[in-house]
Parts: sequence; structure tokens; C-alpha cells
Amino acid sequence: MYDVVVVGGGPAGATAAEDLVRSGHKVALLDREGRIKPCGGAIPPRLMQDFHIGEEQLLTKVNTARMISPTGRQVDIPIENGFVGMVDRKDFDPFLRERAVKAGAKYFVGTFVRVDRESGTAVIYRDKASGEERALPCKLIIGADGAKSRVGLAEVEGADKVPLVFAYHEIIKAPEATATYDPLRCDVIYDGAISPDFYGWVFPHGGTTSVGMGTENPDVNLKDATAALRMASGLSNCETLRKEGAPIPLKPMDRWDNGKDVVLAGDAAGVVAPSSGEGIYYAMVGGRVAATACAATLASGRAKDLRLARKLFMREHKTVFRVLASMQNAYYRSDDRRERFVSLCHDIDVQRLTFEAYMNKKLVKARPLAHLKIGVKNLAHLTGLVRAEHV
Ligand SMILES: Cc1cc2nc3c(=O)[nH]c(=O)nc-3n(C[C@H](O)[C@H](O)[C@H](O)COP(=O)(O)OP(=O)(O)OC[C@H]3O[C@@H](n4cnc5c(N)ncnc54)[C@H](O)[C@@H]3O)c2cc1C
Repeated sequence: MYDVVVVGGGPAGATAAEDLVRSGHKVALLDREGRIKPCGGAIPPRLMQDFHIGEEQLLTKVNTARMISPTGRQVDIPIENGFVGMVDRKDFDPFLRERAVKAGAKYFVGTFVRVDRESGTAVIYRDKASGEERALPCKLIIGADGAKSRVGLAEVEGADKVPLVFAYHEIIKAPEATATYDPLRCDVIYDGAISPDFYGWVFPHGGTTSVGMGTENPDVNLKDATAALRMASGLSNCETLRKEGAPIPLKPMDRWDNGKDVVLAGDAAGVVAPSSGEGIYYAMVGGRVAATACAATLASGRAKDLRLARKLFMREHKTVFRVLASMQNAYYRSDDRRERFVSLCHDIDVQRLTFEAYMNKKLVKARPLAHLKIGVKNLAHLTGLVRAEHV
């Protein structure tokens, strides 16, 4: 009998499993394995601090972000006092799982099938090696099996209503540094021809590069859009190593638990930052708060303590999610808006506050005048009082 079965061994599940064994619980970690998570791999320094990730996990440290507008305007934002780290999910996820196993979690390779409640609670999974169905009896379950979570769809109301962006990228062999390609710079492309409602990216990964885009619009051909992005970035002739895509959920669910014995974490709970699509850090925080909620529930015997997961997460990150959602609503609608957004990025205060918020996961409260100035500029841009090219 396990205290907790964690379904999914990505950043959310591996973190939850490790935290729970470290707090003295008996934990099973189940992952189906066999597929590298499609992901740009960008992580903030705050993640490395909070979850003890050493620099050896990084493929590279990016020091500049370049915003590119529909008309080709480029704004280079130096990342002061920090960096954007790039991980390879091929290595990062197994590293996190191994760390949880070393701490004491029992690891199973197989696919979640259902929750059985005939006599107590058990996770039924299909064992990868034998193909047989097996049971993991437990008190509680964490569903950390990613977007469109099977655990969520079976157990938690609202899991079928999470809006999704479909993201696709190609991992290519990195070219030599050129006038258009800098191995220490990530490019973020706001252009309706690449994505009508999200953005495209070129993220350097040392010897390789991730080039991709996302959209909520099912009529957009993701491969054609990525081919156009590669062409515009001078990357068409680089060797393509992998092509892969996956949905990104863009709205935290209203409820993460089933009021009984299941709580969701990470993408399974819909927790990816709007505007940016950043999900690795928030998945790990989601795993951590799910572990805290399970420990509280096991100690108190009260199923309502599972709600603690969402509560703790929202207390810390609700405001940032709100700001990012309104930015996406305001600026990702048309090329005119995107042009204005990139214009706004010229502002040194916008640059500083954006990257301080990204790296430290806190809205900086210390400079109210800068916020006021940005607020006024924001309004001026959105109402069209300022013409994009005049900023
Ligand atoms: C193309 C793309 C680019 C992205 N780029 C970035 C980026 O640069 N930076 C960033 O922060 N975020 C990025 N994201 C988002 C980020 O990848 C996710 O938010 C993050 O991986 C969520 O972690 P998770 O642990 O919740 O889920 P996942 O990483 O999806 O892990 C889920 C785990 O569950 C397992 N699993 C799934 N179903 C089952 C099942 N039925 N049975 C057993 N196991 C199962 C899977 O094998 C997997 O290991 C990107 C996403 C995409 C699609």
C-alpha cells in the first residue's frame, strides 16, 4: 500500500514524488516513458535555486532576448543580472526521475489505465515490459500526466474544458554563429504569418536549436508555419534532427482535486503561463504544492486538504498569470497590436521588469513609478494614441 501514487514522471510528477519521499511517505512513481517531451527547454534561474538544479543540466545560458515584429523590427533585450537557462528534456526528465528514485520513490514503467475503487483505491496501469494490467494500491493519487491528462479526464471535473495551444518545433543542428544566428540569444517572433494568436521562437540549445511556434487555431498548418519561420531566420538548410509537437494548456483549472483522493499537478491542472507558454517552472511548483497537499491530507485524514495545492499555487502566482493573460488578450490579436507590443519592448523599464519577473517569478513592487509609466504607455499603445513607429 503506497501513501501516494504519482502518475507521470515529468517535471511536475518527479518533483512531487521526490518531495513526498523526503517527507517520509511511501511513494510509487509511474511513467509510460518512450517519448521525449516536445519543449523549448527554457528555464529561469529561480527554478534552479528552488529545485536545486545544477548548471551541468544546462545546454547553454542565453544572455539576450530578441523580439521581432511583423514588419521585421528587432528589439534586443539584454538579460541583466541573470540568464535564461536551456535544458534538453531528453536528459532533464530522466535526471529528475532518477533523483526521486534515489530519494526513495519506487519507479514503475507503464501506462495509466484507470483508478479502481472496488476495495480501497488503486491505480491500474499497463506494465510496459509485460503488457499486463497491474494494480498499485494507494491512499492518494497525484495526476501529473501532462496536458489532456488521462487521470484528470477520468477524475476531476473541468479537465475536458481547458483551452489548448498546439505547439510544434523542430530540433535542428545549430549553425555556426552568423549575422542572423547568435548561440547565446533567443528570438521570439510576433508575426501573424507565423502564428495568428501566439508566437514563434528560435531557442539555442548548444549544438542544436529549437525552432517552433504555437497556435490555438486548428486551421493553421504548424509544419508550414515552422518552415516559414526557418526560412525567415536563415535556418532552412540546417539538418533537421527531430520534429515534434504537443498541446500546451493555457488556463489553470478551477479545481485541481476530486474532493476524495486525487489531485492534479502541472500541465494536467492546466498550469502554463499565458503569453509565454512557460510551463516547466510552474509544473515543478505544481508538483511541490500537490505533495504538500497530500502530506496534509494524509496527516489530517481530511480530503478537503487536497484543495491546498491550488490555494498555495494561486496565492503565489495568480497575479502574474492574470497580467500575462491580459497581455495575451490585448497584444496577440492582430499584427497591428503585435507591432505595438514589440514597440513597447524598446522601453528600458518594460525590459527590466519583464526579465526580473521572468527570472525571479515575482512582480517587482519596488519601482511604482516604472509600473505607472508602463501602465500609461500600455494604454496609449492599445488605444492607438501612440503610433508604433514613434516609440
Ligand atoms: C513545443 C513546446 C515547447 C515548450 N517550450 C517550453 C519552454 O521553453 N519553457 C517552458 O518552461 N515550458 C515550455 N513548454 C511547456 C512545458 O513543456 C510543460 O509545461 C511542462 O513539460 C509540463 O510538465 P508536466 O510534468 O506537467 O507534464 P509533462 O512534461 O508533459 O510530463 C508528463 C509525464 O507524464 C507521462 N505520462 C503521460 N501520460 C501518461 C500515462 N497515461 N501513463 C503514464 N505516464 C504518462 C509522460 O511520459 C511524461 O513524462 C513547451 C511545451 C511545448 C509543447
